[in-house]
Amino acid sequence: MTTLSEQANRRRTFAIISHPDAGKTTLTEHLLLLGGAIHEAGRVKARGEARRARSDWMKIEQERGISVTSAVMTFEYHDAVFNLLDTPGHEDFSEDTYRTLTAADSAVMVIDAAKGIESQTRKLFEVCRLRDIPIMTFINKMDREARDPFDLVDEIADQLQLDVSPMSWPVGQGLNFRGVYDLYTEEFSVYGGGRLGGSHVEAHLSIEEKIQLMEEVDLVTAGLSRFDEAEYRAGRLSPIFFGSALKNFAVADLLTHLAKHAPAPRTQTAKDRIVEPADEEVSGFVFKVQANMDPNHRDRVAFVRLASGEFKRGMKLTQSGTGKQIGIYNPILFFAQQRETVDDAYPGDIIGIPNHGVLRVGDTLSESGKIVFTGIPNFAPEILRRVKLFDPMKQKHLARALTSLAEEGVTQVFKPTIGSQWIVGVVGPLQLDVLKSRLKAEYGLDADLENSPYDTARWIGGEPADVEKFVDSNKGGMAADRDGAPVFLAKSQWELGYVQEKFPKIKFAKTRERA
Ligand code: GDP
Repeated sequence: MTTLSEQANRRRTFAIISHPDAGKTTLTEHLLLLGGAIHEAGRVKARGEARRARSDWMKIEQERGISVTSAVMTFEYHDAVFNLLDTPGHEDFSEDTYRTLTAADSAVMVIDAAKGIESQTRKLFEVCRLRDIPIMTFINKMDREARDPFDLVDEIADQLQLDVSPMSWPVGQGLNFRGVYDLYTEEFSVYGGGRLGGSHVEAHLSIEEKIQLMEEVDLVTAGLSRFDEAEYRAGRLSPIFFGSALKNFAVADLLTHLAKHAPAPRTQTAKDRIVEPADEEVSGFVFKVQANMDPNHRDRVAFVRLASGEFKRGMKLTQSGTGKQIGIYNPILFFAQQRETVDDAYPGDIIGIPNHGVLRVGDTLSESGKIVFTGIPNFAPEILRRVKLFDPMKQKHLARALTSLAEEGVTQVFKPTIGSQWIVGVVGPLQLDVLKSRLKAEYGLDADLENSPYDTARWIGGEPADVEKFVDSNKGGMAADRDGAPVFLAKSQWELGYVQEKFPKIKFAKTRERA
């Protein structure tokens, strides 16, 4: 019998952050291969089953690529249970990614060795920093033409204001890539196979290569930090690995390090209390909702990150806010098009709960119904569009569809106080395409997303009397979000600045946390 805290301590729930094309998918595939199975339901499975899962995965991977609909992938390695959260693979930076990171305890940052830090890496990193999420760095594609390793390491330190500690140091790159030297064990991993220690390292490298390596190692040891678990876990220091995801080189080192040093499930902040993973009471929060995964059923799955307690299938959990009791009879894990029922799960695990629209992003589920997790944000959209329906008779239908898609987090919706047209807001432009095609495919609605007069949105807060005064004098810009919260739609940054100056008592928030 393992105890709740032992089970929780084995969990490593993490996400991979990277700029498109850096190699996230390739790295994911190799991590899953090392894990030997694609997903497991919170406990060790029979060997035969693990083998079957592997071949299923191969098939799915060939058919449609890995990051299509899988939200989380569970696998084991070195006695640790990994829950790898998939962040959306498309080019656009979306709210979905932000929210997924709220469910992660740590992250792996993949960097293309030829490119260094790219725009999306930086944005995602900033989100991790907001939550002090510890990050391990994998500098990928060393088997190709790469930048100087000192350059890369300095860039990470400078641009991200992060202390860095290389765990290994590369010899050569591209066609001349020879392998990496482990700065801690002083062993050399030969690119192409094998690990050498002591004098064998010297025998393997040419004299020039060896001299250069030792000079560089001296510089690294003198100039850069040693790995320090506490600093890493505080989000202040990132260990760096050099490797090649495609050639499965140094991926195992990364995974071993994750198993050993990455944090177990974190303490979660709730209203009026702190929830520890080892708390008896089962609790978790919804960080993602996916609807219509199976076109034959209007199903909807809420992804719940467990925060405390030992979850058992059949349990009844209470939804925060509504106080509704929900029997969880078919909790599932996902892999691409596959689902599997889970019998028990632990803090750090992600379970999918099928439901008919009851569960929404930001909801807390707990046994007592008294826990309310905070911190799942709505973000101020950067693009606001007006929805123009080709068939005006379908206005009601549109309202339903938009509300449903907003609950999933595909878009945000705003109902202006004046006028009847819906405004949708997104963070990245690709979300607009997704919205339009889903309106058509799933709801049979032909709609255009026209330019709107608005440039940005802010949630309004303050003393009720002040808010009322503000709303009265700004009716033309007022709208309600899907929960009825007041939002000010500004026509320009200038207008926003102007009203902010005119109404100093009003708080203009860029994010709104669901409570
Ligand atoms: P993602 O967009 O971050 O998921 O990137 P992918 O994993 O799809 O990789 C993008 C491209 O880079 C693909 O063509 C991969 O085969 C290639 N790639 C990924 N990792 C490596 C690597 O370590 N070495 C080389 N040479 N190519 C790689």
